[in-house]
This record gives sequence, structure tokens and C-alpha cells, in this order.
Amino acid sequence: MGTLLPTCEPSLPQLRPRGRSSWWTEWRRGVPAPARAGAQSPSGVASASASAEGLRKGIAEFYDESSGLWERVWGDHMHHGFYDPHAPASLADHRAAQIRMVEEALSFAALSDDPQKKPKRIVDVGCGIGGSSRYLAKKYGAQCKGITLSPVQAQRAEALAIAEGLADKVSFQVADALEQPFPDGQFDLVWSMESGEHMPDKRKFVGELARVAAPGATIIIVTWCHRDLLPSESSLRPDEINLLNKICTAYYLPAWCSAADYVNIAKSLSLEDIRTADWSENVAPFWPAVIRSALTWRGFTSLLRSGWKTIRGALVMPLMMEGYNKKLIKFAIITCRKPE
Ligand code: SAH
Repeated sequence: MGTLLPTCEPSLPQLRPRGRSSWWTEWRRGVPAPARAGAQSPSGVASASASAEGLRKGIAEFYDESSGLWERVWGDHMHHGFYDPHAPASLADHRAAQIRMVEEALSFAALSDDPQKKPKRIVDVGCGIGGSSRYLAKKYGAQCKGITLSPVQAQRAEALAIAEGLADKVSFQVADALEQPFPDGQFDLVWSMESGEHMPDKRKFVGELARVAAPGATIIIVTWCHRDLLPSESSLRPDEINLLNKICTAYYLPAWCSAADYVNIAKSLSLEDIRTADWSENVAPFWPAVIRSALTWRGFTSLLRSGWKTIRGALVMPLMMEGYNKKLIKFAIITCRKPE
């Protein structure tokens, strides 16, 4: 991989939060000593899998706990909205902005509405409660399978599908994006909306997306990245790493990577038509809106009832804004195609 990769695939301890009561600390309690220290077991395998298991568990618990609140306040799409830069947005616009995000991603990837070419089999990797899955299944009349680490999300996604009369079109299961429970070459649209940031091994993540893609399939990744490094840099600055560490702690994220890193990975997998864009300006109104919604009486009381992981997530929201304002955090789309 290119010179940027060390920031993309560092061992998790590189971004280890320094705070005392972090999820890292909680996680360490449940992880065997060699993994905690980042030391290698004789094979190196046991420690890596123990770390990955701790992260998976944290992600599952975080979404088990917080998804109900998110749905009550924001609806079934658990991702940023897409806005016209610098245009004012009212609260009523946000749901439309989330749908627009899906549509913008499809059109960036130049997906065809032509009945002959439109996707028929879709996988939604990191599906939340299935907002994208149901939308895409309806839009294209396609079959869609969603995977999430959170059992609560999978159940809720199934219930919503039944309620919307889509039970024969969409299905959901608890499964790891890094070991997808699907044979090779199954799907003609591979969709990952804001789940890539949770993946501890970006190369394996993209590799799995490519594996389950059918020849000619489109792969769409919309994800949080850090800024691209300058040619003179080999890593982010310490203050930048520190800020990201705090966000990682609250949102159960491993090390971040840049959009350029994703492009390099896609190239190394011989994927074609690789395109990327920085949509940070288009998502700028989102976090201020989420913070405003948390500060309403309903939002605030629901938050207090939801649990510590959700509250900690809410407390970190201003840091997301700080990251965007400092041009450290980038909201990126990366699309590509599996060769025919
Ligand atoms: N794409 C959804 C949800 C985004 S929230 C939406 O836009 O509404 C992030 C999602 O990624 C959660 O559902 C979480 O369970 C999932 N996720 C994170 N890591 C994962 C992994 N390793 N395997 C499968 N899903 C994962």
C-alpha cells in the first residue's frame, strides 16, 4: 500500500485514548494481557482476535442501547443528512436531507434507474435499523440483506420491514462485515452507509465488500475519514490524534483512515472506476441539528433514560463539529466497481 497506509491500519493502541474512564479502559478489563499491551502472542492471532472481539462487543452494546432513542428523535436513517452548503436548514429539513444523502450517493455512483440495469440484489453492510435497506428495496424493487452487530437493531429492522409490507424483500441478521455470511459474487449493489468508520481492518472490510460483489457490481462506501495527509507527513499531528481519540472512545471507533487510503485499498484490489468526493461541507448543518435535538426537553429526558454509553456519545457531539471545523474530519464517499 501507499505511504499513507500506516495511518490506516495501525494497531488499535496507536489511537488509544489517554483518558482514564474510557471504553478502552473498560475494554482492557475484558481483554487478555497480551492484547492489551499490543504484545504479540506466539502466533499474533490470539491477541488480534481478542481486541477485535472487544470492539465488536462495544459496538453492539452501543447500538443496542442508543438506537431506540435515535429512532424516536431522528427516524430510521442513522446517518448524516446532505444539505446545500451554507443554506439554512430547519428541523423539518433533516429527514429529507437524510433521504437526499442516499440519493446523492446513488447518483454519485451513477447507478442506473433503467429497469434492465438497476440493482436486483443489494447488501447493506452495517445496516442500523434498515433505513437504507428498505429505501433501496422499494426504490429498485430489489432484494436486500442487511447486517449489523446489534441484535436490537436487527430485530427492529425486521419489525419495520414487516410493518411496511417488505418482509419478502428485505431481511436482517447479526453478522460481522469483516466475515460476511454470504458466498462470493452475490450482490449487484454493495452499500455501506456510515459503518466503515467502525471497521478495525479497512483492507479486510473493503476486501469483503469486493468479495460479495457480483462481477460488474457497484460498491458504495460513505464514511467518516480523517483528512488526507500531506506528502511531507507520515501521520496526523498529536493534537489531531488526541481529538480523534476522544471521539473513538465515545463511538467505539478504531483508528481512522483517509479517503486516499480507501482509494489505495480499492486500487490494490483491482476495483475499477474508483471515485471519491469530500462532502464535509454538505453535512455541516447535521451535528448542530443533532445537538439542538438533544437539548429539547424530549431529547434530553430520553437521553437521560437511555444509558451511559448514549449519554457519553451525546457529550462528544461538539467534538465532531470541532473536527469538521478544523478540517480534520472529512465526510467522504468512495465508489467503485468490481470488474466484469
Ligand atoms: N447504515 C445505517 C447505520 C449506520 S450506524 C444507517 O445509515 O442508518 C453504524 C452501523 O454499523 C451499526 O448498525 C453497526 O452495528 C454497524 N457495524 C459496525 N461495525 C460493524 C461490523 N463489524 N459488522 C457489521 N456491522 C457493523
